Amino acid sequence: MRKPSHRKKLVEYDLGLPEFKVIDRQENDGDFLFVVEPVGDDRPNRCEDCGHDSIIIHKNIDLHIHDLDINDHRVGIVVKTKRYRCKNCGSTFTPEYQALDGRMTKRLRDEIRKESFRENFSTLAERYGVSTPTVLNIFNEQAKAYDREYVLTMPKVLGIDEVHLHSAYCGVLVDVNKDDGKVIELTETRSKEHIKTVLKSMAHPENLQYVTMDMWQPYKDAVLDIFPGMTIIIDRFHVIKELQKCLETIRRAVSKSIQEKKVRKSLKDNRFLMLASSENLSPAQSERLEEILRDFPEFREPYELKEAFRNIYEFAESVEEAKSMYAEWCKAVENANAVAFEPLIKTVDNWHTEIFNYFKFEGDNRTNAQTESLNRIIKDMDRTGRGYSFPVLRAKIIFGKMIPKRRKFSFSNFKQPADE
Ligand SMILES: [Zn+2]
Repeated sequence: MRKPSHRKKLVEYDLGLPEFKVIDRQENDGDFLFVVEPVGDDRPNRCEDCGHDSIIIHKNIDLHIHDLDINDHRVGIVVKTKRYRCKNCGSTFTPEYQALDGRMTKRLRDEIRKESFRENFSTLAERYGVSTPTVLNIFNEQAKAYDREYVLTMPKVLGIDEVHLHSAYCGVLVDVNKDDGKVIELTETRSKEHIKTVLKSMAHPENLQYVTMDMWQPYKDAVLDIFPGMTIIIDRFHVIKELQKCLETIRRAVSKSIQEKKVRKSLKDNRFLMLASSENLSPAQSERLEEILRDFPEFREPYELKEAFRNIYEFAESVEEAKSMYAEWCKAVENANAVAFEPLIKTVDNWHTEIFNYFKFEGDNRTNAQTESLNRIIKDMDRTGRGYSFPVLRAKIIFGKMIPKRRKFSFSNFKQPADE
C-alpha cells in the first residue's frame, strides 16, 4: 500500500465534464463530492409548452447526480442550477445537460448497461450508489434493444438440451459448432409446445442438417412436428452419462457391504477414477484405479464392461460396426449377469435409431461443445443468484456475450525502448 501522502489528492482530479465548472470538492470516508455549476447560460430560449420566449428564473435547485468511480472513489455531483418558469403559461422546467441522464451521468448509465449483463444487479447498485430497480430498468432497456436486433437463425447442427434453473428445467437451444458453438435461445420450460414455438420462429430453417439432443421425448416430437423426417442424434455425452449411472449403482451396492466408513468414503471420493475415460487418467490415477480394482474385484467386470461400451464410441467407424459391437457388448453383459447395466440397454432400445445415428456422421459437430456452454450458464446462474425472472436470465445468457470483453493487456502493443 502506498502512503496516503503519495496518493493523488481530490483537488488534482479533473471531472472531465466540460459543461460544468467545479466550484467545490469534498471528501468523506473515501467518497468524493463535486459541486458544480453550468458553464454557460442554460436558460431555455422558449417555453417547451407554449413556445413563448419570456422565461424567468423560478428557483435555485441542486441536482444530485451519481457518477462513475474515480480511482475506486465513489463520486457524487451536485449540480447547482435553476428551475425556470414560463411567464406566459406558468410551466416550469429544468435545463437538460448533455452529460446527464436522469439522476446519473450518461457515462455511468453506459457502464451499468454493460456490466448489468455480467454482474449481479444488487452488486452493481451498491457499487454505484443507485437502486437495484434502477439497474434492472437499465438492463431491461438494453435487453429490449438487443431483442429487437436479434435474429434467431437456424444453425446447420442444432443442439437441444436443458438446464436446471431455480428448480425448473429450461430448454436450451445451441448452435453446435466446434469452432463457435453457442447458446442461441432458451425456452421457459422444456415442453414440446415451447420448443415448437421457437423452432417455428427461426430464420433460415433450410440451414438445418440434423439435430442433436438429450433423450427427452418432447424434444423429439417437437422437431419431427416441424421438420418431418429430420435426422436426430442422441449425443454421445448423454449416453455415456447413462452408462456412468449404471456404474454408480454398482459402486453404491458394493459400498453398502463394506463395514469401515473410511473405505466407503475413499471409494466415493475416488469414484471418478472408474467413471472417467481411462486415457484421461494420469499415471498416478491409473495406479490408484488398479489398486481399487484389485482390492474390490467385484468392480473389475463392471469396469471392463464400461470401458468396452465406451470403445464403441471410440472405435466404431460405421453404424453397422457400432451395432455389431453393441450386440457383442449386450452378450457380455448377459454372460456376466451384470443387471446394473439393464437401464442402459433399455435406453438404447428406446432411442435405438437416434443413438446409432451418431455413427452416420463424421466430425466433431455431432457431439456438443455445448456441454461446456451449459456448464458456463450454470456457473453464471450461480453467480447472478436467484430471484431473477426467466426473461432476465434469458437476456443475460443470450446477450451477455455481445458485450465486448476488455482487451488483453499486452506489452507488445507498446513501443519497446531501443536496445542500444
Ligand atoms: Zn409557456
